[in-house]
Amino acid sequence: MRANLSELFKLQTVDQELQSIEETKGDLPQQVERLKKEIDDLKLDCENTKAELLETKKQLALNEGDLNSFQDKLKLLKEKLYAVTSNKEYDAITTEIDSMQEKISESEDNTLEMIEKEETLNTAVEELEPKIVLLEEGLIQKNEELNKKITVTEKEYEEFKKQRNEISANIKRPVLYQYERIRKGLGNTAVANISSYACGGCFTTIPAQKAVEVRTMSELILCESCGRILVYVNGEEVVPN
Ligand SMILES: [Zn+2]
Repeated sequence: MRANLSELFKLQTVDQELQSIEETKGDLPQQVERLKKEIDDLKLDCENTKAELLETKKQLALNEGDLNSFQDKLKLLKEKLYAVTSNKEYDAITTEIDSMQEKISESEDNTLEMIEKEETLNTAVEELEPKIVLLEEGLIQKNEELNKKITVTEKEYEEFKKQRNEISANIKRPVLYQYERIRKGLGNTAVANISSYACGGCFTTIPAQKAVEVRTMSELILCESCGRILVYVNGEEVVPN
């Protein structure tokens, strides 16, 4: 266990280096992610609007066809009206003409409504497209910035990653698992060095007997106050018993 704990302390040092490299990127990775999402959302919006526009154009064409056929029918009916021979026939055709005129008026209303819709959708697409282009340009810029930062720290980062793998290999899985879990929970350090009977993480005093046990590093002991793994390390090296 002693070796495990001392390796764990080393691992933490490496993890802190890795974290500070990550931090040099600032919130650029999040900015890039946000931009990507915004672009995806707008693209979807634009596609849907275009699909609706296409559908409206189709409907408009159909409506126009209907309107033409109604107008043709009206024309025929009016011609028929000149040739009627009885009042009954006259009334019947007049009724038909009325109903056809109603259909035409309805169809014209529909057409007008659809033309307005088409215009609205067209405007929406015209507004969305340049917005997307602008955001995409912004994304390229942010990506470049981020890549520059990554390039600068890449070598160092890879070196620490290598060290991390090597150190991790020396630590037993359950200990490593506990370390990762605590680290995730606390968001920073999972291992605390004790000094003068106090936890180096939260500075809570540790009972003398427990401090003695921590110093032997023969088992995994957690700080009762902050939950960090307690170790006794002097500088780089573990202090010998
Ligand atoms: Zn503590």
